Amino acid sequence: MNQLAKLRALLNEELPAILLTGAPNRQYATDARIDEGMCLILPDACIFLTDSRYTEAAERAMAGTGRVECVDRGHTYSQRINAALEARGIDAVGVEEEQLTHGEFDRLTKKLNARLIPCQARADGLRAVKEPWEQARLRRAQERTDAVFSEMLGIIRPGMTEKELEAELIYRLYRAGAEGLSFPPIVVSGPNTSMPHGVAGQRVLQEGDFVTMDFGLILEGYCSDMTRTVALGYATDQMRLVYDTVLRAQKAGIAATRAGKTGAQIDAAARDVIDRAGFGAYFGHSYGHSLGIEVHESPNCAPSCAQPIPAGAVCSAEPGIYLPGKFGVRIEDVVIFRDDGCENITGSPKELLIL
Ligand code: ZN
Ligand code: ZN
Repeated sequence: MNQLAKLRALLNEELPAILLTGAPNRQYATDARIDEGMCLILPDACIFLTDSRYTEAAERAMAGTGRVECVDRGHTYSQRINAALEARGIDAVGVEEEQLTHGEFDRLTKKLNARLIPCQARADGLRAVKEPWEQARLRRAQERTDAVFSEMLGIIRPGMTEKELEAELIYRLYRAGAEGLSFPPIVVSGPNTSMPHGVAGQRVLQEGDFVTMDFGLILEGYCSDMTRTVALGYATDQMRLVYDTVLRAQKAGIAATRAGKTGAQIDAAARDVIDRAGFGAYFGHSYGHSLGIEVHESPNCAPSCAQPIPAGAVCSAEPGIYLPGKFGVRIEDVVIFRDDGCENITGSPKELLIL
């Protein structure tokens, strides 16, 4: 079933139409990556509303999926939406409540001749299972990301700053074909590696440092995401112990991953390894998150996630240990859930690399 058909299958008497205002679900419905617009899903039509800056690109992207209507001063979004709803006798429309500001919600409420029905979770929920063609895009995005990591291994050296390393990384991601970055990369070194989402600064890399890089690119509209921690010059026994514990935890999580397991069970498989090694207090975040059109989607592999994860879900596997003031280690791969296990689409080496 194509994505538009899946969205249409959500329509019923209570939810006779859906208005997608957020870029991720607009892309999901149409595969059009257009910065501004709204997409109206109707039982018999899909209308992409945008202004003249984007109409040509939208028409190309929408070929065969639906039609594009241009909005301007004489034909506003609300006028066009009202016309489409009234022509079909529809008096209610689903909206993405998480994608609307309070002001936007108020304006839509006033201007549309239809009741607004929050339906974000239903629309987002469709994206949990990735179709084979989506999985292929995610694999291609990760392949390019792995290639960039391999290039970076030849670049990281004592004497350069975190900022310089960050710039080298971003340059290479774009040179590898990135349409954008999945998120601003995390590049931290030495004691800064104990901050899971630290920001690159002017610190100079030195021998005996861990360097953590967490990064991803967008290719064909889909995000990659990976983390590797490498050592410069040498690693102390404590660094090796922590690295080995994180790697064993990640492998235990991946070994426990298959469709039907809950996010909590998978998180626990990895967390147990870290707990038993005595570092439980230093693994504060969740084991993994889904990713696709956005780098953070649902379902998650976290202690609070009691829902079984379906085959075709694509999640990160990223345990970490962070010792404040000392150092931290995180290793992140991305896996696709299968009925009999999972497919790891991250190809970069995971044994401790000392550069
Ligand atoms: Zn990441
Ligand atoms: Zn991640």
